[in-house]
Amino acid sequence: MINVRLEPHTSGRSQAVAAKRLAAGSLIVSCDALTTVLLPQEKGQRCDACHTKSPGLQKCSGCAAYFYCSTKCQNIQWQAHHKRICKRFNKYTSSLGFQALAPHEKLDALLLSHLVAQLDGADSAVNDPLNSILSLLPGPSNLPTPQIAYSSPRITVSEVKDWYAKFGNNNFVIHSHLTTFGHGIFPLASRLFNHSCLPNAAAKYILSPSSLPKMEVVALRDISPEEEICLTYLDPALLQTRQQIFQLTYGFECRCTSCLFFEKVGPIPGPPTDPGQRDGLSVQLLQFMKDTPHDGMSLGSATFPSNLLPIFHESYITDVAEIFRNASHDGPYAVALSSGKTLLALYRLIYPPNYPQIGMHLLELAKTSWNRIVSENMDASAERVMKAECRMYLNEAKGILQILGPEGNEDGPLVEIKVLESVLEEP
Ligand SMILES: [Zn+2]
Ligand SMILES: [Zn+2]
Ligand SMILES: [Zn+2]
Repeated sequence: MINVRLEPHTSGRSQAVAAKRLAAGSLIVSCDALTTVLLPQEKGQRCDACHTKSPGLQKCSGCAAYFYCSTKCQNIQWQAHHKRICKRFNKYTSSLGFQALAPHEKLDALLLSHLVAQLDGADSAVNDPLNSILSLLPGPSNLPTPQIAYSSPRITVSEVKDWYAKFGNNNFVIHSHLTTFGHGIFPLASRLFNHSCLPNAAAKYILSPSSLPKMEVVALRDISPEEEICLTYLDPALLQTRQQIFQLTYGFECRCTSCLFFEKVGPIPGPPTDPGQRDGLSVQLLQFMKDTPHDGMSLGSATFPSNLLPIFHESYITDVAEIFRNASHDGPYAVALSSGKTLLALYRLIYPPNYPQIGMHLLELAKTSWNRIVSENMDASAERVMKAECRMYLNEAKGILQILGPEGNEDGPLVEIKVLESVLEEP
């Protein structure tokens, strides 16, 4: 690893610091998956080994429950773990014990089954992944280990329990453009990166046919030498619930700039229920951001008027996002654009600069502006104004999403940006 160095941290665990100056958009480290599992609704849509989307996947003839894009993928997974699970898989998943598990526990149980079968079958090179899991910190909750699809006399119950104890606070959701499609164990990434609600780096997943998915950690902004590199472990927009999740799931208290700001502010008052007052709140927020532009990093130094505090209520953010989502595709577009602008201001205040969620939302705003142009009978000057707005959103979306770069499925936002750019050029 030439870009990061592990150093002791004041909390007792280690921290990854930049070994040199890292420019925004640079690849910090690439991490292999030890093992992964697809969400149930993705089964048969994506290859179980490489996770690319492909029509006409081949079903495993043994269990009819695993699907592959190629013989190569099938062989990779057969050797890794599937040959030890295939025969007992259907009996296992139809068992009462498995059926009684909550959806996320089912995923954990499958991931653990893969892991145990994989580590049992691996030769002496196994020490590497094994040591990397054992070096991870266990989570604070002591949940019972689920029944798994595979057992071996060479692996003891307490070893399995030890591995499972690392799941809740170390495993990653695997996503394509913010849409989760699987879970995975990436020991190197777990070992390296601590959490911040204002992360300077983000994880993306690289998919390519016939090779296992990789996680790449990318700098979201310029990072100075010796600066700690952090990822976020959850959506930082969970403003009221995130501290509780850190304590229960991860066993730490976040002391980032954003969390210190909310600690200082105290309990956030609920947003008004009256629609007129809610609109007024949104107008005040946009005015505040226009007068004194802020982002998540500068929130701590903001003199924040107390009448604006309800915008930080999770229910307000959820409601604004829902109004935008419902209206952005089929209209009314004026409603969509108005709630979309409020949501953009909220995202800018909550997330750090260049956070992918901001870029994706800017693209949605550009698409909504375009929908409005083509579906409403505007006069020429109104259309000119709308097109300029659309271009502005699109340019900023491009600037942000290019920092993260290509990831996940092929038909991503960078492709959508190109398409929209070309239709905007048409006279
Ligand atoms: Zn494949
Ligand atoms: Zn099978
Ligand atoms: Zn925090």
